[in-house]
Amino acid sequence: MLKPMLACALILATLLALPLPAARGRAGATSPAPVPAPEDVLGFRPGDDRKLASWAELVEYFRRLDAASDRVMFEELGRTTLGAPFVLATISAPENLARLDEFKEIQRRLADPRALGPHAEREAARLIGRGRTVVLITCGIHSTEVGSTLSSALIAHRLASSDEPEVRRILRETIVLLVPSLNPDGVDIVKRWYDRTLGTPYEGTSPPELYHKYVGHDNNRDWYAFTQAETQLTVDKVHNAWRPQIVHDIHQQGTHGSRLFLPPYMPPVEPNVPRQLVEGYTELGLAVARSMLAQGFKGITWDSTYDAWTPARAYSHYHGGVRILSETASARLATPVNLKFEELRSREGYDPQKPSANFPVPWRGGDWRLRDITSYMTTAAFELLKHAADNRERWLRRFYEVGREAVRPRRRGELWGYELRPSSKNYLFLLQALHRGGVEVEWCRTGRRRAGASEVAQYVSLAQPYGGFAKALLERQRYPDLRDAAGHPVPPYDVTAHSLSLMTGVEARPVPAPFRCREAEWCDDNSLPAYAVGGRVGLYKSHVPSMDEGWTRWVFEQQGVRYESLGDRDVRAGNLRAKYDAIVIPDQSPRAILEGHRKDTMPEEFTGGIGAEGVEALREFVERGGTLVALNEASNFAIEQLKLPVRDVTEGLKRTEFYVPGSILRTVLDTSHPLAKGMPRESFAWFEDSPVFEAKGDAPARVKVVARYPPAGSPLLSGWLLGEERLRGRAALVEVGLGAGRVYLFGFRPQYRAQTLATYPLLFNALTQ
Ligand SMILES: [Zn+2]
Repeated sequence: MLKPMLACALILATLLALPLPAARGRAGATSPAPVPAPEDVLGFRPGDDRKLASWAELVEYFRRLDAASDRVMFEELGRTTLGAPFVLATISAPENLARLDEFKEIQRRLADPRALGPHAEREAARLIGRGRTVVLITCGIHSTEVGSTLSSALIAHRLASSDEPEVRRILRETIVLLVPSLNPDGVDIVKRWYDRTLGTPYEGTSPPELYHKYVGHDNNRDWYAFTQAETQLTVDKVHNAWRPQIVHDIHQQGTHGSRLFLPPYMPPVEPNVPRQLVEGYTELGLAVARSMLAQGFKGITWDSTYDAWTPARAYSHYHGGVRILSETASARLATPVNLKFEELRSREGYDPQKPSANFPVPWRGGDWRLRDITSYMTTAAFELLKHAADNRERWLRRFYEVGREAVRPRRRGELWGYELRPSSKNYLFLLQALHRGGVEVEWCRTGRRRAGASEVAQYVSLAQPYGGFAKALLERQRYPDLRDAAGHPVPPYDVTAHSLSLMTGVEARPVPAPFRCREAEWCDDNSLPAYAVGGRVGLYKSHVPSMDEGWTRWVFEQQGVRYESLGDRDVRAGNLRAKYDAIVIPDQSPRAILEGHRKDTMPEEFTGGIGAEGVEALREFVERGGTLVALNEASNFAIEQLKLPVRDVTEGLKRTEFYVPGSILRTVLDTSHPLAKGMPRESFAWFEDSPVFEAKGDAPARVKVVARYPPAGSPLLSGWLLGEERLRGRAALVEVGLGAGRVYLFGFRPQYRAQTLATYPLLFNALTQ
């Protein structure tokens, strides 16, 4: 039965022979425009040597595709950090596109079986029978990995234009959500640089700036704190709107390893990733790999290099969907390379020069060009889509089973949930992250009394669809002590800790028993604590892009800290005290700070670092009463170059002796020091490639310890730590006097990825001294 409005539209459309809005093209009286090929709009075939498209050209291609094809629906979801359109193409059979709301509703109901009613299994079977496999394909989060955004146009074109039976089946059985770039700003940053250096000795180099305004490559570490505009748009408007069963995240890796990585991931798997998803990504990754090997593609590996440890890269693993990461070998942006077999180098878990169970057919070397990259990428994407179509019911059933297991009532002896104690103002940040990740938070009376009234606290039950996401953020990580055959620690792919509760300083107490509460009313007050920073602040910015520099800018701007960026030339020019009260050097290797890009590796204006001149300028700045703040690795730059009476006790230690690859460690603050003013005595350090300080024997009076690792017990709060005895009683943050000024050496990242809110005050206090 038609609703009156729709009936009206139908009559009108029949009279005027207009296409109906929900079925564009199908009922069209005029013959539709032919489906344009990418080269018709871009002027070249994606994958051609030395050709990149601008973001505006790519958006135009998708607009034209949308206009010409009844299989493509293209929309702008919002704006990027720099104001570009952030877009999504939804591709499916026209009859599916006319029923998108219905399919979204099926996804929503399967994801949360609590509301399926008394005959849940029967209802689930009915929904599974009616649903489609929802596949999200995300491209271009890392903008120097240029192949995937170009491939998105090729994938969309084939889906929009082909009459091959396998493409028709894909369109019928799946809904493809295609994000041509998760970082559109970077598409243009990289293209501008590539075009500028094309035909010069610097063709194919990476730009001397971050390819995302604030966070560069770390944009793919933001999938649980959700700080950046692009992450928020993708989560709110794609993931949470659709809850895809499969997410295909297309990346590129280095030039010298395998030609293609596919899941399964190497161990460890983060314990909150449901076993059904581990089975799912194993099955799908291997199916794609086998079918590509059968087609003659070489150099494919799995179960190597990339782990599944963190929600930072894998939102879907905590939201009912598998993440199929693919990593194709890179050329030099769009410029071909030639590789000899002997030049191929081992990475974690395989040797590209030797066949093995997870690397059966080596690639023999030779030319490697953008066309190879787009060919591996588009083939993998279509093999994945075929599996999604051929196994539609299986994917939907798996999705439902993940949801059913997530919401099952907890048994006695199991963990029921967490009680959150609003022990700091950063509480709201954590609540927002949970809320955005689909976690329900409840208000409960605790039974305790405070100020005459019964106390109310907030609880997170684990028996809810995204309880596993909450647990991953609220518990402490215990990273397994993985060793290779020689007994050396196996490095994680990224870091080992993601306890957002610890990083925000919010107490999350495990609740071992049932509780009954009412659902929270979501409060949109997201005001975070503001810090008064009065002085004139300079922030060092190298031409060797530092993500920590970008995060620092982001944190400063969010917190209202006024600053100016200082380049190498500005530092070398000296007279810094006249302009600044405090200068911050973000986390960066001492060599990059001192030397920058080496001569002849980049156009000259981007070469050279601070140099000896800059070091003298910084010394003069401090001696005249300035404050120099060095973060993490930059502390070693300050120690070496300013000859500070401090040493890094971890220098020269082997990994078997001391290893902390991204962990949260306990520290004790001297709260009488102005840096730790108003902070709790117990704090923490985000430790990753970090120095550990000790005053040199002859000058301890010049060195004041602000934070140190506890003298007894393990300092490990979350993650992985080998060699804890090296840390005991040692300093994590020191003040060193120099002339009329001071240097603050942070042996950690107090503003790590805009997540360690609880240690922000140490940094901000340092700027006001
Ligand atoms: Zn990447």
